[in-house]
Amino acid sequence: MQLFCYAWRRYRIWWRFCLGLLWGGAIALCLNIIPVGQVPLSLADGLPALATHPLPGTLEQWQPASKDTRDYFTEIKASPLGYLIWSEFPVTVFYPELEPYLSPNQVQQQTKWQNAVQQAIAAWSVYLPIQKTSDQENADIVILRESPPLQITVNAETGERDYSFGRNAETRYRFYLDEQQHVRHRMTIYLSPHQRAIATLNTARHEFGHALGIWGHSNNSKDALFVHQTAENYGISEADINTLKKIYQQSTKLGWPLP
Ligand SMILES: [Zn+2]
Repeated sequence: MQLFCYAWRRYRIWWRFCLGLLWGGAIALCLNIIPVGQVPLSLADGLPALATHPLPGTLEQWQPASKDTRDYFTEIKASPLGYLIWSEFPVTVFYPELEPYLSPNQVQQQTKWQNAVQQAIAAWSVYLPIQKTSDQENADIVILRESPPLQITVNAETGERDYSFGRNAETRYRFYLDEQQHVRHRMTIYLSPHQRAIATLNTARHEFGHALGIWGHSNNSKDALFVHQTAENYGISEADINTLKKIYQQSTKLGWPLP
């Protein structure tokens, strides 16, 4: 069975790398965990302390059906700067419009992709305010109509090279400092245009869950963040939202100003 997305394995390797840098006392070298943004972040200036943001109203109002509603919060990992929580709403999302001069076939394919993306965004919008933007440069989440770039990485456990072919989707994050000196993050989702409609929708919904901060996977096939791709269309489950709500109650350095 094919893994739904490969962000996770790569994240583990990357996290160990960062930990190694920190443990080596070479904190300044960790500048390269914050490579993006117009303003380089100097760790010599210190980072904000971990702190919790107010729970977004939509999540605060949402209540699980019962006390027994499950979640998979234990599977969620924080980034080196804390949980990947958005604190400014609406979260802005960019995705490309249809390209000009397309054949009827291409119009059909790109429309199918766009519909899936719009459905996925609409589904998550119930729980967190999300707004479409045409400003790709400054969007919080950018969804690209392309397969994840081929990457050759070294497996930290086996020491062998991982070649990842045929992946359908991947979500990445990066950190930057905004003009008010707040530590922020951006998400990029690669979403292949070469899947069937239902698979595109499932994948879009799954990756968007990662982009909203669900940085881990569920082992239950009824959840949008199930670790494997399925042919079923279950939508976003109570467990997904129960997990999302717990994540947004955690502390993070993101969204806070430098001290
Ligand atoms: Zn995934």
